[in-house]
Amino acid sequence: MDFELEELAGASCIHSGKKILVAADATHCDKCGRAVLKKHKSEHEEKCTGAGAIKRVAHDYDEEPPVTWTSTLIGFVAAGVFVAALGGGLMMASPEQPPGELAKPLPTKKLGAGFGLMALGAIVGVGGYNNERKKQLAKK
Ligand SMILES: [Zn+2]
Repeated sequence: MDFELEELAGASCIHSGKKILVAADATHCDKCGRAVLKKHKSEHEEKCTGAGAIKRVAHDYDEEPPVTWTSTLIGFVAAGVFVAALGGGLMMASPEQPPGELAKPLPTKKLGAGFGLMALGAIVGVGGYNNERKKQLAKK
């Protein structure tokens, strides 16, 4: 189907023109995709030519070429994920502690380093991705 389906509730029946109050009372015409009350569906579809369908509008973002996963792009994202994972691991790793003792909070330095690595990973991954993507779009 290349048409946009109408929101049922609040739309007008394409056959009778009546306002559809409850979505359960209505359905979409198989031919034109417009909202139609269920009791009028067969009647409408007999005469329906498919005209009057709400065609999908082309959005700018639909016209952008898909991302090409070049090795550079994969490299950036992989490096970002790797660094971020290192940071996450650093924060997760808790110091050995004997049973029965209260959990010690992570040393601030370690926590900071963990966050720093995660942030760095995000910057490398996202920044690298955006940079590569910009280049790809510029080539168009
Ligand atoms: Zn129709």
